[in-house]
Order: sequence, then C-alpha cells, then structure tokens
Amino acid sequence: MTRVTVWNEYRQECTDPEVRAVYPDGIHGAIAEGLQAAGFDVRTATLDEPEHGLTQAVLDATDVLTWWGHAAHGDVDDAVVEHVYQRVLDGMGLIVLHSGHFSKIFRRLMGTSCDLKWREAGERERIWVVEPSHPIAEGLGDSFVIEREEMYGEHFDVPAPDRLVLVSWFQGGDVFRSGCCYNRGRGRIFYFRPGHETHPTYFQAEVRRVIANAATWATRPRGSRPVHGNSRPLEALEPR
Ligand code: ZN
Repeated sequence: MTRVTVWNEYRQECTDPEVRAVYPDGIHGAIAEGLQAAGFDVRTATLDEPEHGLTQAVLDATDVLTWWGHAAHGDVDDAVVEHVYQRVLDGMGLIVLHSGHFSKIFRRLMGTSCDLKWREAGERERIWVVEPSHPIAEGLGDSFVIEREEMYGEHFDVPAPDRLVLVSWFQGGDVFRSGCCYNRGRGRIFYFRPGHETHPTYFQAEVRRVIANAATWATRPRGSRPVHGNSRPLEALEPR
C-alpha cells in the first residue's frame, strides 16, 4: 500500500477563526481524509512538531509527501528541506499544493522564483484537462469547476513542465498552469494549484481525485537507481 505523508504548516487554522471554520481538523485533516478514502496508508505531519514531523525515519517510510504551506515558509528548517530534497532525488514523490509554490523545497527543486499573480476575490475557477492520456487526469472528464477560489495567474515563473496536465481559467480573465509534472533525479513532482485556506476546496471530490491520482502517479513505476561519479570502463579500451 502506498504510504503518503500529508504535511501542513497548520498555523492559520489555529489563529484565524475564518480558516478554522472551514478546516476544523486542519487542511492536512481534509487532505488525509480524501487520501484514506482512496485507499492510501496516510500519516500527517505539521510545522510545529519536532523536525516538523519529518524525521529521517518518517521520510524513509514515505512514498509520497504532500506539501501545503503559506505564511511560514521561512520557519521551515533548512536541514529538513535538505532531507526532503535528497529523498525526492532518491525517488520519493512530492505533491506541492497551492501556496506551496513559494516553499523552500519547491523553489529549490525548480531553481526559479516560482512567483505568480494572485487575487483573493472568491471567483469561479474552471480547471481544464489538457493532457487527457495522463494518469493524473483519470476520471476527471473534460473540465471541472471550483465555485470559489483565490486566483493564481500567469506568468508562473517555473521551468516548462515535463508534462502539463491541467490549466485553470478564472472568472476575472486570468489563466494558469494548474497541474504541472516534473522529474528530478528519480523523483516525480506534481504541482497542483487549488486550495486557498478560506475555501473548502480539499473537500471537493474532483480535487481529491486529482491528489489521489497524483499520489499513485508519483510513486509507480519507481525506475532504476542511477550511478554517478568516476567510472571504470566496462570493456577493454583500445590501446592508444
Ligand atoms: Zn491562497
């Protein structure tokens, strides 16, 4: 069974009554509930736990890590980021959600600013499937709507995705690359846009479907472990 660790900053749910009303069990609670219902072996971890709940033992027992952060990216310890980074290169899947675009781990893996446009107006978002053969699109149909969301708009300063699966349109006219796949080392990374803390996005069936599909995609097949560094010839070299 695929082992997923759902990581959440879990600060705004504790300090902002508007957010707590939407996510009484935390954003991680809603994401974990969806993944458990989809048959994954799920644990959660949050910023204010020792080592942010991401000890080496936890990371070693994690096939896919999901990441939601917003107001406290700077509080994430660089040593933990390094451990997560190495695990991704070694094959752990990583699903970066919404404002996780500015997390230390995503920016490190992308190597760009990851900046974008944004607007909090509770507008309609329509998410289009633009790569219908991709496993992350399974069961989504042509498109689906989130009635109220924060807008994220282009330009999104990330490297061109290896595969672009989803594109968002917003009522205000903006568009955004909402479902981006990357390979880094042996790891698979999926960035998925929706999930502002004042909207019940992570309870929506289609959103849960995308995250579950991404968790499956990110962990199998696992590929093979590459070899780097000084290399002896495998066959006799021609005398020269
Ligand atoms: Zn947001």
